[in-house]
Amino acid sequence: MERTVIESRISGAATFRIGKRFTFDAAHHLPSLPTDHKCSRVHGHTYTVEFVLEASELAGPGFVTDFGDLAVAGRYLAESFDHRDLNEVLDVEPTSEALAQHLARWFRAEVEPGVHGRLVAVRVSETPRSWAEYLLGESR
Ligand SMILES: [Zn+2]
Repeated sequence: MERTVIESRISGAATFRIGKRFTFDAAHHLPSLPTDHKCSRVHGHTYTVEFVLEASELAGPGFVTDFGDLAVAGRYLAESFDHRDLNEVLDVEPTSEALAQHLARWFRAEVEPGVHGRLVAVRVSETPRSWAEYLLGESR
């Protein structure tokens, strides 16, 4: 049983995966929640966003993607989200889940065509102990 699992990994299921993490500060509130829910009030977070890419084969010197090629994502976050009200930036209620989905769509359109790796997930944290993730499936 163990042997079968190992062989299937060797025969092509293995992939390389990298992540690049950014932070920004922003305000938000969730207006659809009851008024006694603390998240219905305007408040702020230091958000952490992580883009996860994978590739089955490496490029260049041995990269999934050059981390330097992902700096554009940090610039986008700084220019579009840092010290802003996310309720004014996004056209949906700004939960971590919705932000992760928005950032995944932006990354696929603006960054992925120019890099070797493939985006597989965007993870957003509002606190060090919680996160929401938007996973991209095989067929998209
Ligand atoms: Zn919040």
